[in-house]
Amino acid sequence: QNNTAKRQWAEEDFGKTIPSRHVHAHKGSHGKGLIIGGCSEMPGSLAMATKAALKAGAGLVAAGTTEKVISMIAAMCPEATYMILPEKDGYITGCTASPISNYDAIAVGIGLGRREETRHVVAELLNNAPCPLLIDADGLYHLKYQLEMLKQRSEPTIITPHPGEMAMLLGISISDLLSAPFHYTRDFAKANRVYIILKGKHTIITSPEGRQAMESSGNPGLAKGGTGDVLTGISLAMMMQQQELFDALCNACFIHGKSADIQIEEKQTYYDLMATDVIDGISKVYRAFP
Ligand code: AMP
Ligand code: MG
Repeated sequence: QNNTAKRQWAEEDFGKTIPSRHVHAHKGSHGKGLIIGGCSEMPGSLAMATKAALKAGAGLVAAGTTEKVISMIAAMCPEATYMILPEKDGYITGCTASPISNYDAIAVGIGLGRREETRHVVAELLNNAPCPLLIDADGLYHLKYQLEMLKQRSEPTIITPHPGEMAMLLGISISDLLSAPFHYTRDFAKANRVYIILKGKHTIITSPEGRQAMESSGNPGLAKGGTGDVLTGISLAMMMQQQELFDALCNACFIHGKSADIQIEEKQTYYDLMATDVIDGISKVYRAFP
């Protein structure tokens, strides 16, 4: 290991870095975010990420997806706005015909599907998104085919893989990755100029300079579909608040895990915790850590 400080991100760090809400704030003060993803088979991922982003404090959130997915999820998230994107067979095929320059941060990939026609959605954003860009889930699958584009970006890029996705990007086995996760993620982050949230019981956050922290809130109740989508939404919201990007990502992981922990303490079990309960628990995190 080199001398890069690795440290645990703790409750005090959250308390110290989370920006307070100004009494004269307006919705524009808290960021305008865009989340691109969803397809007919996976509409819920986009709904959860969108809801989580608003719940975590984003001022405005737009969901960019197919017309069909919009009709499926709009009632679940009336506070959001929607952007109709071009599609083929129910999968998004592009996004830059739409005005993506108006956003403070963009997330792409959840529920996107792995069709080849969808791949250049990620390419278009890597090329043109004039703001921090978070890539998750199927977006990471598409990123694997165009990794070299990461270095060309002038704005930050953030990837949020679970170990399977990180191993896929590295071209190694999951067991190799997990034998030295700090080492592999730091090398990848520095080589590709990217922020990484490597998810797990102990989540590792890495900056493009190689700074690393570990965030260990959360519990096995989170091992269920949809919880990663909630983290994407919370991360998008944090990326748009006035805090260092590295701190913002650590805080997103803290809010996500702590929400699940509070829900388990108060009313649920590892069996019945749902991703939507993690969204509801965000309120409790903010009340517990003013
Ligand atoms: P994904 O695999 O993309 O759905 O993301 C799952 C989310 O749940 C990540 O934020 C993980 O860190 C979290 N998670 C999953 N399993 C556990 C666990 N056993 N303990 C703590 N957090 C977990
Ligand atoms: Mg996921």
